[in-house]
Amino acid sequence: MRISVPTIPQAILSAATSAAQSISPSAAVERIASFLAPGNVATITGAGVSVDSGIRAYRGVKGRYLNPNYKLRSYLGYTPVRDALPNTTHYALAALQYSGIIPKLITQNVDGLHQKALSSVWNTAYKQERILELHGSLHKVHCSHGHVIDRATFQDRLSAANPEWKTYMDELEATGQRPRTNPDGDVELEGVAYDSFRVPECPTCLAENRHNSILKPELIFFGESIRQDVKDRSYADIEHCSGLFLVGTTLATYSAFRLLRHALELKKPVLMLNIGPTRADPLPGLEKIEMSSRIVMRDAVRAVLGSRVDDDPIIERMLRSGVVQPPSEDD
Ligand SMILES: [Zn+2]
Repeated sequence: MRISVPTIPQAILSAATSAAQSISPSAAVERIASFLAPGNVATITGAGVSVDSGIRAYRGVKGRYLNPNYKLRSYLGYTPVRDALPNTTHYALAALQYSGIIPKLITQNVDGLHQKALSSVWNTAYKQERILELHGSLHKVHCSHGHVIDRATFQDRLSAANPEWKTYMDELEATGQRPRTNPDGDVELEGVAYDSFRVPECPTCLAENRHNSILKPELIFFGESIRQDVKDRSYADIEHCSGLFLVGTTLATYSAFRLLRHALELKKPVLMLNIGPTRADPLPGLEKIEMSSRIVMRDAVRAVLGSRVDDDPIIERMLRSGVVQPPSEDD
């Protein structure tokens, strides 16, 4: 995310390929299953996990919140993220969470798709205990006095305050010309005037006779630090686990990279499933399978859970659920 999107040094990129295992999908399934089987596996996910839901991997652009048209772009970009559906990887992981193999999941994603995959079996409090959103959530907005507003409600208020932009967005939707959206719900928008975009006041502040329209998504922005309680909790999750599984992340953000390093320092077994080079590739002790999670995760879950899949209709349904709608390469 925008806090730290360091570019991966070229030397690491060129050394990376040699670190990866070259194995068949069935061998990968077997290896992942045996890694997960003992249970108590903490899991870290990144942008790669959400690509099949139509949310493209992040293109590092820093400090966009400082850009005055960010609020408008965020307004236009929220709808696709709000409407995105969990994919097969989210559901495979959900089956592992639900069956207790993965008691703690830490995600760098702000799209809320891990939560959506569990929405029919876990309530909000239960999900909050078991899923840590390292970089915050796009589905909540807060004012500078700490009042939190549900994002969908806020989106409706923005629409009401900006009918002309609502019309513009509806037209984009109707013609299928949605602007390109980044995983943090920001869109790339050029050549539009944004001066007219109005952000309504925080209703709680207004009720307290205070004017405050500094509302922003509950995300960690470039230059901001992760809250101490979130950081502490992420470290505790790593310390209490028996192994660490990394899925769809290049660990380009330091907040996630240091968790992996912490796990390795504690001599925890670590398995990474990701396509392409990552910041972690040169680290000794890291085992990496270079493969798409879409190809192997469901079969790996079947192998781990065995007869529980057929005995439990919830797990069985999870392993049949999930969209596969990766964004097209060039749009
Ligand atoms: Zn407020």
